Amino acid sequence: MKILIAEDDPISRRVLEANLLEWGYEVMVASDGGEAWEIIQQPESPNLIISDWMMPRMDGLALCREIRNMEKSEYIYFIILTAKGEKKDIIEGLEAGADDFLTKPFNPEELKYRIRIGERIINLERRILELANTDPLTGLLNRRAFLERMEQEMSRAQREKKPLSLILADIDHFKSVNDTYGHQIGDLVLQRFVGQLTTSTRPYDFLGRYGGEEFVVCLPGGDGLQAASVSERIRRQVEDMEIMLPDDSRSIRITASFGTASNSIESGKNIDLLIKRADDALYLAKDKGRNCVCSSCA
Ligand code: GH3
Ligand code: MG
Ligand code: MG
Ligand code: MG
Repeated sequence: MKILIAEDDPISRRVLEANLLEWGYEVMVASDGGEAWEIIQQPESPNLIISDWMMPRMDGLALCREIRNMEKSEYIYFIILTAKGEKKDIIEGLEAGADDFLTKPFNPEELKYRIRIGERIINLERRILELANTDPLTGLLNRRAFLERMEQEMSRAQREKKPLSLILADIDHFKSVNDTYGHQIGDLVLQRFVGQLTTSTRPYDFLGRYGGEEFVVCLPGGDGLQAASVSERIRRQVEDMEIMLPDDSRSIRITASFGTASNSIESGKNIDLLIKRADDALYLAKDKGRNCVCSSCA
């Protein structure tokens, strides 16, 4: 785990850094609150900060308040390490949003275990986020998390004037898989289908479970032609897939239908409209007899 030290005194900084490195942490250092604030803005910045209180430019409390006011998806655990140690100081520090408060000179063992508490909280938060965002059966983003990610990608596509496409995929006659083989085998088929979707897409595409047996793929940078050809490739691969039953007795084959849509000037950042167009195209694919790809022409 990465820890950021914000400390203006070079000696304290070095002592703290040496301790953290010895305990196996990756360390970033800032010599005042302003520098720490800049580091925090960067991607993959540390989730745990040990900050001095009194520093030039921006002090530790102001830094903490800024961090608490920012919109960051992950929690930042903030430890104040300061020479100020009166009750009123501690209260002021906690009031500013700090998670913990230690006084200098610090006891290294105590600090080590206080950092562990921070790590536990950070890991718990990650776990909760993961549970809230993923579909347990397939491990894909659930609908809400997918839409959240779509929002960012649509804005980026618009900003960079790049295409973006969506593929909606729905397994054909999936109800009969459940009816014939049971729900558990149905689940296995869903997992295999997702495995195929994942291997057939690029690492920067992202997938979501849109509904029961309906999945969605977003292709950032992908235009309508690409969306159609990726869908066609997946369609063929799914058709060729042999899903063995767990007892190896026989295999199941499935097909899927696909609807694609791409962003356009008029759709702008309207996610609902893009999804509606992909959904209409999927409906058309079902109507045309299933196991095919239809693209929205708007
Ligand atoms: P179509 O070709 O028109 O898409 O027909 P379909 O049978 O695939 O579609 P329908 O909407 O009639 O049925 C979808 C089925 O998917 C019904 C539902 O029980 C099943 N299903 C939804 N979620 C799950 C799941 O998590 N596991 C299993 N095993 N089945 C699921
Ligand atoms: Mg200081
Ligand atoms: Mg279906
Ligand atoms: Mg369906």
